[in-house]
Amino acid sequence: MSEGTGTAWSRQDVILKANNLKKYYPIRRGVARRIVGQVKAVDGVSFELRKGETLGVVGESGCGKSTLGRLLVQLEAPTEGTVEMEGRIVKPGEEMRRLRRDVQIVFQDPYTSLNPRMTVGDIVAEPLLIHKNELNLKGRERDRVKQLLDQVGLNPEHINRYPHQFSGGQRQRIGIARGIALNPKVLVCDEPVSALDVSVQAQVVNLLERLQRELGLAYVFIAHDLAVVRHISHRVAVMYLGEIVEVGDKNQIYNHPMHPYTQALMSAAPVPDPVLQAKRQRIMLSGDVPSPANPPSGCRFHTRCWKAQPNCVTDPPPLIMRGEGPAAHPASCHYAEEMEVVTG
Ligand code: ADP
Ligand code: MG
Repeated sequence: MSEGTGTAWSRQDVILKANNLKKYYPIRRGVARRIVGQVKAVDGVSFELRKGETLGVVGESGCGKSTLGRLLVQLEAPTEGTVEMEGRIVKPGEEMRRLRRDVQIVFQDPYTSLNPRMTVGDIVAEPLLIHKNELNLKGRERDRVKQLLDQVGLNPEHINRYPHQFSGGQRQRIGIARGIALNPKVLVCDEPVSALDVSVQAQVVNLLERLQRELGLAYVFIAHDLAVVRHISHRVAVMYLGEIVEVGDKNQIYNHPMHPYTQALMSAAPVPDPVLQAKRQRIMLSGDVPSPANPPSGCRFHTRCWKAQPNCVTDPPPLIMRGEGPAAHPASCHYAEEMEVVTG
């Protein structure tokens, strides 16, 4: 989907592109481990990311956000679809090597994603060494690691310490230093602050914003916290059961949500202002997210949607422009219309 949602970016600025990405995981049963079905974790996702831009990705747990992140950095091969880096489709070989350097990932949990037996220096240097096919940290790389630690607000003298000697926020800074070690152009951040105390979250978000300014990085920022995504993102994509159901500029999504799922998500998020909080209406979503092994027919959201009509059960709605004027942006709902949701 190549939507031009009223921004000043041009096509040349597109750095990373997802073309109809799909990831199906086989479900195996019995002693013969026969394949009896598929989990459609990501099911036809397309978007563009521009240079220096932050694209927020939101949606309930299990809707495929992390799988999408792993596909973008080629930690997993897609079942179908392609990733394009600066206009070139990534295929095994030279482009794959380039993408492995240019697109890096920061994980959610700084407690489990850092090897406890490696020093901070070794953790941050690992991508440098792998890239150069070297085994040991030499003087030049050591200097680079110290510079990286300084850049993310850690004391370069702590290069020989182990992860357990750092706080959660500091550990996430180590993860970020590792993520930027190879001067990537894109950083996929998978819930980078979700495991941290609220007081520390803002510091890490500020660090990411500063690095974006200094290094011209583009972010795919995955999170379920709508307030954090609103703060850091330029554009936002809303995922439901493996699909993007709405995408647009931050203000379009937060001030003019068109898809009932987005409206429900927004209405459930807490608003800091108690007066606003008392005034607003909360849309209750009935039931849980259906299983991605057996997604509902037609519009996948119809089983929980208060607006669903018979055609929603049979016809999948396309992700197309909805709404008028500057609020217009793509949403996949047969009955998409603006609804005022107080989002603080
Ligand atoms: P999110 O990050 O939005 O919570 P995930 O991408 O982690 O969602 O998961 C999407 C769906 O894919 C879930 O139903 C999850 O159980 C399933 N899934 C994720 N990884 C695997 C895997 N390696 N094997 C089988 N199923 C998986
Ligand atoms: Mg996840």
